[in-house]
Amino acid sequence: MTDRVAVIGAGQMGNGIAHVFAQHGFPVTMIDVAQGALDKGKATITSNLDRQLKKGTIDQALRDATLGRVSLATDMGAAHDASLVIEAATERVDLKFKIFADLDGIAPAGAILASNTSSIAITEIAARTRRPADVIGMHFMNPVPLMQLVEVIRGIATSDETTTRTLALAKSVGKVPVEVNDYPGFVANRILMPMINEAVYCVMEGVATPEAVDTVMKLGMNHPMGPLTLADFIGLDTCLAILEVMHDGLGDPKYRPCPLLRKYVAAGWLGKKSGRGFYRYDTAPKG
Ligand code: NAD
Repeated sequence: MTDRVAVIGAGQMGNGIAHVFAQHGFPVTMIDVAQGALDKGKATITSNLDRQLKKGTIDQALRDATLGRVSLATDMGAAHDASLVIEAATERVDLKFKIFADLDGIAPAGAILASNTSSIAITEIAARTRRPADVIGMHFMNPVPLMQLVEVIRGIATSDETTTRTLALAKSVGKVPVEVNDYPGFVANRILMPMINEAVYCVMEGVATPEAVDTVMKLGMNHPMGPLTLADFIGLDTCLAILEVMHDGLGDPKYRPCPLLRKYVAAGWLGKKSGRGFYRYDTAPKG
């Protein structure tokens, strides 16, 4: 029987995860508290599939079948028959704890309960359930349909069986999983976020403009995208939340979020998704 997948959260990561699983034949239910987010998520999947079709990487039949495999729900009860649940809701500790405590009463026995959290401890999330052996981190990269890596994070209680099944599921959707242990920021953000934070300090201290900082890192270090452009893509609220978790969890002042990053988030300048971050984005619908 094909595994049924439930994805909690239809934001930029959730809709990408739903897209990839549906494209590889899994029936997927995308669940969000906001109907608007579900509609926007489905529209994003549609336009991304249309782009793949145009490029010739998928055909019309696969495009249509993929869309047909994605259903939407506003009630988490829709995860009752999922053998894999991937949570990709907003990066807030209290929210994730509540979602996993609720999922414990909803998901069938033996289901894998995965979180796409960028930084929150899998061990702590798992402790909100009565089945911590089944809880694991599945940290996809943005944009999910294009990026190959999935960090697979074992909490302290995650079983070997859950880990093996998760690695196999990630491979079955064409990803390259890398197993890591549960410490704040895991590997990807432990290394990436201090770089982004330092780039924001460079702007705050007047060392250089955002454009100059990004150009230095692109042309000097051969990065495909500058750190401030990348931060805008990730979402500045998400970057701030990850730095807070690393600062609290590792207790080292080197992870202190830059005050300018806090100021942007307080202003609602969250990056591409809000139309403004270190750069401005045209958010008007394309005609
Ligand atoms: P986002 O803001 O685009 O989407 C979050 C979605 O969660 C929203 O649609 C919101 O309505 C929904 N939500 C909030 N509470 C909910 C609930 N109780 N039940 C169901 N849905 C709920 O955020 P995002 O960038 O997609 O990030 C989601 C997760 O993925 C976060 O944990 C983040 O750290 C992680 N992540 C993000 C990136 C990135 O580059 N943005 C990369 C890897 C991992």
